[in-house]
Amino acid sequence: MIRSGPIRVKVFPMQKVIPPELRIDVTAKPLVLSGAALSRADGAVVLLEKTASPGKALQKLPQAAMWRKLLRAHQRSGQESPILVTRLPNRSQTLVAVGFVKPGASGFERLELAGKLAKEVLQPGVARLQLHANEFTAPGERAAALEAVLSAVLAHAAPMPEQKSKPAVAHDLSHVDIADRASPLYDRSRAMAAGNHLARWLAALPPNVLGSIAYRAALQELARREGWSFKFYGIPQLEKIGAGAFLAVARANPHRGAGVVRLTYKPKRTRQGAAGIALVGKGICFDTGGINLKPHRGMYTMHGDMQGSSVAVGTLLALTRLAASYPIDCWLAITENEIGPNAFRPQEVVRALNGVTIQVVHSDAEGRMVLADTLTLASREKPRFVLDFATLTGACVNALTDRYAGAFTNRAGLHDWLQQTGRHSGERVWCFPMDEDFDKELECPGADVLQCTLDSKGDHILASRFLSRFVEASVPWVHFDLAPSERKGGLAHVPTEMTGFGVRYAVHLLGDADALDAQLRSLA
Ligand SMILES: [Zn+2]
Repeated sequence: MIRSGPIRVKVFPMQKVIPPELRIDVTAKPLVLSGAALSRADGAVVLLEKTASPGKALQKLPQAAMWRKLLRAHQRSGQESPILVTRLPNRSQTLVAVGFVKPGASGFERLELAGKLAKEVLQPGVARLQLHANEFTAPGERAAALEAVLSAVLAHAAPMPEQKSKPAVAHDLSHVDIADRASPLYDRSRAMAAGNHLARWLAALPPNVLGSIAYRAALQELARREGWSFKFYGIPQLEKIGAGAFLAVARANPHRGAGVVRLTYKPKRTRQGAAGIALVGKGICFDTGGINLKPHRGMYTMHGDMQGSSVAVGTLLALTRLAASYPIDCWLAITENEIGPNAFRPQEVVRALNGVTIQVVHSDAEGRMVLADTLTLASREKPRFVLDFATLTGACVNALTDRYAGAFTNRAGLHDWLQQTGRHSGERVWCFPMDEDFDKELECPGADVLQCTLDSKGDHILASRFLSRFVEASVPWVHFDLAPSERKGGLAHVPTEMTGFGVRYAVHLLGDADALDAQLRSLA
């Protein structure tokens, strides 16, 4: 039976849909690592540069004999440079974790160590936390290591949505004192933490809380709070402009609340001649797979299939907090992928917004359908750079596991920069080829392009070839297939299953306007 008449969708209280702001004071000022300083904190992390003799480095710590004894105990059990944790015998019983940082450690290695240290010290009763590091040999490594620990502490401290009858109190952290001069590095860390928290929180919300209607309302509220303009392309408008690829996916929804949200950030002072950039995100609030229904394991975490969109909006939030000097548009394709009598089916042919006709092969390849029209909307505005984020293909996870994201670009000259930013930021990406001849696989007799192939061979590459048809060729574009968005136990410094992977990366990529200009100019 086809349901008719208005369907009421319950919208949950906004305070549950938008995460609470993290109220932790972060200050950076030079502070000598002494017994007296540590006694003023409830907890501390101490970073030492890893050397051939870790015992020697411990010599400089207060209570050195106690630390060396602890190290020897670990070394007897075969650990060369373990994490050492103990409470100091002072009036605060300060809980201290000591970690050894390998010289030349990668961004990922620093974050992973930082995550372990943060877990040790974020215990109930620890309200005031100090972060210390001794001198490192290479310039910049000390601050980078401290920044990683700050990121990890903020990631661990950020609450995640829960609706328990008796909420658990996770920690008491209220102050972080970094023993270093104030630095833009730490400001950036806080901005990235806010963006990452938003991305993870939204992705973790149950699908009966974050349906497409509630999601749109939450984005409108965020726009009001952050000073972004908000525009919504709803079903009637998408019908009018002919966004057939998006509409095919939204067709089985029992409501007409799906659509494309456009959030716009405008800087107070724009750099001269700075055209805007566009962030695009896949926001499938729940993916059943559609009429080609997913099996139960595959469907279990599909409330997180909107993480591309939450990473895009998390990146927008972080760049807003950092007062980015260029305009940013954020385009979010928001709908469910449902089953039902109206669901789109294999062999249907639909016409996308830019006129390209698509023959449907698999209803679970809905991400590329909604992104197709959203990328057209975004790239028609002629931004100088488009980045899209999506939890798009299982093939990408098969190729990279859930530790790296895949990157695909219509400007191969960007490969080095994209991968270097991954190594540097600690959120790693790997560039895949997307030569034109892959299009052969998507040729089809009855339409311009096949949505995908029947098997999943190289589906991450074919999906990016498919998407490239909907991006104006004159616009540099990078597509990120977010394989690490969901991972048991988290990844690197982030402890939760929904990782918000991509915000930290994108802020490293876009946060320095001069570096971004230089990269884009090199393409000209
Ligand atoms: Zn799907």
